[in-house]
Amino acid sequence: MSGSDIAVVSAKGARRWQQGHPWIFRSDVVRRPDVPPGAVRVHDQRGKPIGVALWSPASEISLRMVDRDAGAILNGGWWRERIGAAIERRQSLASVANAYRLVHGEADGCPSLICDRYDRWLVVQMMSAGLEAFRSEIVAALQNLARPEGILARNDVPLRRKEGLAENVELLAGSVPEEVEVNEHGVRFLAAPWSGQKTGAFLDQRENRAYIGERARGRALDCFSYHGSFALHLAQRAESVVALDISGEALARASENCARNDIHNVELIEADAFDYLRARQRAGERFDTIVLDPPAFAKSRSALSGAIRGYKEINLRAMRLLSRGGLLFTASCSFHLTRPLFLDMLRDAAADSGRRIALRGLTGQPLDHPEILTIPETGYLKGALLEAVE
Ligand code: SAH
Repeated sequence: MSGSDIAVVSAKGARRWQQGHPWIFRSDVVRRPDVPPGAVRVHDQRGKPIGVALWSPASEISLRMVDRDAGAILNGGWWRERIGAAIERRQSLASVANAYRLVHGEADGCPSLICDRYDRWLVVQMMSAGLEAFRSEIVAALQNLARPEGILARNDVPLRRKEGLAENVELLAGSVPEEVEVNEHGVRFLAAPWSGQKTGAFLDQRENRAYIGERARGRALDCFSYHGSFALHLAQRAESVVALDISGEALARASENCARNDIHNVELIEADAFDYLRARQRAGERFDTIVLDPPAFAKSRSALSGAIRGYKEINLRAMRLLSRGGLLFTASCSFHLTRPLFLDMLRDAAADSGRRIALRGLTGQPLDHPEILTIPETGYLKGALLEAVE
């Protein structure tokens, strides 16, 4: 005998969904469904159906709403339609890059599902128990829609533990190579689907790389370079580029990527960015173009104030290193450092820099990583283009 597949949620939980946010927390579930992870129907406390959700019994985020129609059946056709619409929204990107995100979780109505395209291969992340229950439908939909040569699950994400799921890397279909050549806006670099950061590369900075690349000149510096993907764009217009990272392994890749593009004006430096920026400032050096793309310093809300000090320090030092008219593209991918806090931090750094710093542009996430206004968790990347006017 099977239990009830109906979840009853509080007025607060129901209102959240009505206002465009799909998460319903454990504390807002008044009656828990009595079925394993998967799809459940959701009612409000008056018994009115409000939709269908993915059910994660072990998680604090117990329900992730996916459809306003409580009669919806999450079969193969449903997933094909949902994922197909997400892929359709990215059509225009195929002409500028062969790697981009096909599904950005909640932002595409597929909570806790990430799918990135790397040329002819797909890399997915399934980050909830309720979603995991539909693994075969999702894989079938992706095969049908994108016809990839292979699908890899990079499920080695700590988030899965909160869902009672194992962390692993698993081939779901076909085969996937160790390295894939990514081509974005005419620049080529290698992504590492099995072992690289995230799903193999930082696809979310694609448009920002082109944005500063088009404006680069003179002596350029790419701090936190990883595989050199900003540096490769800077090298197109700058005279010389320093690509800096604390990881020698990351720089070895950056070096291969330079060779791949026949680029010879990039110098690779293995160093701590904080030390390097301080030393260059002491030496009175100047750069005409600087990129700061650090890892998320604030991994949690409690780490925020320390993180802000870190962000401020590197930005302050970079501002001081700019030549007159020099450009700084600075980014933060910490979700907890909101856009207003990011700007406050830059204002603070500018105030201490002794320079007159103009804000030339603000950027966010590209088309394939949509930030949904009613779902703050879908947004995390902020960028600013600054110019040292004096
Ligand atoms: N700009 C890259 C992504 C950067 S990821 C891109 O667009 O693809 C962050 C990088 O910062 C990682 O490669 C990591 O090795 C490096 N890193 C972390 N802490 C650092 C530090 N203190 N100094 C220099 N590099 C650091």
